Amino acid sequence: MREYLLYIKACGGSIPQVQTYVTPSFSVDRTFWQEREGCVLHVIGKTSSLALAFSLRAKVNGYLMEQVGKGRMLTEGYVKELRALAVSSVCEASSLYGREAVSVQDRLEQGWFSWEPIEVSVEVSYRGGKESRKWTGAQLGFLGGRELLRRSSSRVNLQEAVLSELLDGRALLWDEIETLLKKRGADAQDLLAILHSFVLANKAEWRPGIRLAVTKGWWRKQLELVCERCGSAGAKVEFTYCHTCEQGCAYCTACLGMGRSKCCTPYFLMDVGESLIRSADHLQNVARLEWAGKYSADQSRAAERARCFVVNPRPKLTEFLIWAV
Ligand SMILES: [Zn+2]
Ligand SMILES: [Zn+2]
Repeated sequence: MREYLLYIKACGGSIPQVQTYVTPSFSVDRTFWQEREGCVLHVIGKTSSLALAFSLRAKVNGYLMEQVGKGRMLTEGYVKELRALAVSSVCEASSLYGREAVSVQDRLEQGWFSWEPIEVSVEVSYRGGKESRKWTGAQLGFLGGRELLRRSSSRVNLQEAVLSELLDGRALLWDEIETLLKKRGADAQDLLAILHSFVLANKAEWRPGIRLAVTKGWWRKQLELVCERCGSAGAKVEFTYCHTCEQGCAYCTACLGMGRSKCCTPYFLMDVGESLIRSADHLQNVARLEWAGKYSADQSRAAERARCFVVNPRPKLTEFLIWAV
């Protein structure tokens, strides 16, 4: 069972910077920060529900913004408060889920969501440069991606390049990525760790297939479940006990034909080819794909990609698919 860890990264300096992250492999994050800046990583906890991890991140973020905005420092005591906030948020989400999940067969005795608080803070000192990439021993029993670090970096770079090429510009659920790679004969070890390194480097975004949030209704709080792939919500999203994440989960029935979008399935939005767009800029007038209307932000990105594809042909790529729900 895959697990996702929520942590807060705090950097010193004259203006302290605090950010929260969800990761499938803490060791990858640690190495990533080690190569860039010194910081302290405060682990909050872990769960196998990606949707829960993301909703807790939003919750912790909201609280942090409010408090740090008031000039409060991120002390150990404050981190403790945040860990307690996460635990109480899980209880709240769990009871709201139970209220809605009346049709689910396997009823659970001890709450619908599982969350394991972790009281660990790790100091990461800046090592700079890729040469110092070295595993420094585990403090956590949560170590996906460790293999990745052992391997020679040239092999990793090659895998990264192949993945970039294949996934460039696509938005895919985890299962779809696996299927695509198999079809193309590309075998990537530690796929999730590599994809996560794209996320850290801002070359990709990721989310749970179904987003979970606790919102304030007009008279009481409610659980909001929205499909990140097609935007469906309400009756289109089915509650279920899931044997993948072993807790309360939900999936979208509206886009089921394209594969199951679930609370525990990562959905990756790959945008690794930005340099391609920049290199195509000077060719602006070669191809014209024009339309006299107003694009939404997503539509204009798609149109820009199509334009770039036409003005900047690549050897083996002859097809360009614009895919929308
Ligand atoms: Zn959907
Ligand atoms: Zn699940």
